[in-house]
Amino acid sequence: MNSRPMKSANQTYDLLICGAGVAGVAAALEAGRAGLRVGLVEKTILPGGLATSGLIYVYLPLCDGHGRQVQFGLAEELLHLSLKYGPGSVPDWRQGRDGKARYQARFSPASFVLALDEALEEAAVEPWYDTLACLPIMDGERIAGVEVETKHGRERLEAPCVLDATGDAELAHRAGAPCERGTNVMAIWALEVSLAAARRAVEEEDGSPLLRVFTGSWGRLPEDPEANEPWTGLDAQDVTRFVIEGRRVMRKHYAELHAQGGETAQQNLYPLMVPSQAQFRTTRRIVGQATMQTGDHTRVWEESVALVADWRQAGKVWEVPYGALVAQKVRGLLTAGRCMSSSGDAWHATRVIPAAVATGQAAGMAATLAVSQGCFPDEVQAEEIQRGLDAKGIPYRKSQVGLDAS
Ligand SMILES: Cc1cc2nc3c(=O)[nH]c(=O)nc-3n(C[C@H](O)[C@H](O)[C@H](O)COP(=O)(O)OP(=O)(O)OC[C@H]3O[C@@H](n4cnc5c(N)ncnc54)[C@H](O)[C@@H]3O)c2cc1C
Repeated sequence: MNSRPMKSANQTYDLLICGAGVAGVAAALEAGRAGLRVGLVEKTILPGGLATSGLIYVYLPLCDGHGRQVQFGLAEELLHLSLKYGPGSVPDWRQGRDGKARYQARFSPASFVLALDEALEEAAVEPWYDTLACLPIMDGERIAGVEVETKHGRERLEAPCVLDATGDAELAHRAGAPCERGTNVMAIWALEVSLAAARRAVEEEDGSPLLRVFTGSWGRLPEDPEANEPWTGLDAQDVTRFVIEGRRVMRKHYAELHAQGGETAQQNLYPLMVPSQAQFRTTRRIVGQATMQTGDHTRVWEESVALVADWRQAGKVWEVPYGALVAQKVRGLLTAGRCMSSSGDAWHATRVIPAAVATGQAAGMAATLAVSQGCFPDEVQAEEIQRGLDAKGIPYRKSQVGLDAS
C-alpha cells in the first residue's frame, strides 16, 4: 500500500505543472526522473488530456514521411507507452518512402491512461487530480505558485518554477503574460462499438479492429445563429454550445444509421463513450520570447530544443526555439504543448501529441536547470538544454538527423 502522507494545504514543490495533458506529463516525467519534486495539477481524474479524456487516439508521426525518424526521447517513449496495455503495435513504417506509411499509431485511450499512471508513479511525480488550477500567486513579476480548488476548498501550491500546460494558457493569461487567441472548427471524436468490427476481429483473430472511433470535424453549423463567429473555447457558453452541438450531430448520425437496420441497427452499432474534454484545437497560446510562424519549417534556430515532424506533409520538419516555451512579462513561467508560442501554420504543426510531448520534455529540462541553478527559466541558456538533450541522444537540429534547412 502507498504510504505517501495525506497532502495538506500550502505544499511546496520544485516544479508545479498545471495540466496533465501529454505536454504536462512529459515535463513531469523529465523533471521527476531528474530528481525534482513535481506537483501535477489536473482538473479531470486522468493523465493525457485530449489524448485520453478527449479520445484523440492517433499518435501522429515521429518520422518525416520518407523513412527517417526525426523525433526521439519521450516523444518515442510515450508512443510505445500508448500501446503497452494493448491493442496493437507500431506498424512497419520504414517503408514510408512513398510518403504514406509513417511512424505513428492508434491507441486505446484507457490503455494510455494506465501506462501514464505507471510512468508518473515510477518518476515519483505527485499528481493532484480533480483539482482546478485557479489563480496564479504573484510576487511582483514572478509567479510563485498557484491557488487551486480541491475537495478541501482553496489551497496554495507554491514552487519557484511553474509550467502552464493547460492547453489554453490559462495561468499565463491570468498572470498577465501576453497571449493570442485561436479559432476552432466543430469537432467530435467518440468511441463506438460495431458488429462489423467484432466480426473482423474474429476473422483476423486480432482484437485491434474493436477500437473504433466515430470522427466528425466541420465548420460552424448552418443553423447556428452566430454562424460567422468562430468557436473560441474560452468561455463557458462557447464550450457548452460546442459540446452539445457535437453530441447533437452524433445523435443524428446514429439515428439515421439505426433506421437503416441490418448491420447498422441499434444493437449492432452504437456509441460507447463520448469525450469528457471539449475537442478544441487552438484556443489561446502565449506570445513567448520567440514565436514560430508560418514558413518556419525552413528556419534554423540557434536555440532549438526540439524537432517536430509535420503530420500533414512528408519532408516537412520544424525546429522549436526555446523562447517559444518562455512567457513574456511573467518570470518563473514556462509553457509547453498546444499553448506554446506558435502561430499560423506553425501552430497546427506544434499542437499535436508528439510535438506536445517533445516541448514538454524540453520544458521539463529547462525547469530542472532553473531549479538547480536557482534562476528563472528565462535565464536558462538554450545551450544548456541542448547539452542535456545531447546526453540523452535526442536530436534538436534538422542537421542532426541528416536534413538540411529546407
Ligand atoms: C478534434 C481534434 C483532433 C485531433 N487529432 C489529433 C490527432 O489525430 N493526432 C494528434 O497527435 N493530435 C491530434 N489533435 C491534437 C492533440 O490531441 C492535442 O493538441 C494534444 O494532445 C495537446 O496536448 P496538451 O498536453 O498540450 O494539451 P491538452 O491535451 O489540452 O491538455 C491540457 C490539460 O490541462 C487540463 N487543464 C486545463 N485547464 C486546467 C486548469 N485550470 N486546472 C487544471 N487542469 C487544467 C486539461 O484537463 C487537460 O488535461 C487533435 C485535437 C482535436 C481537438
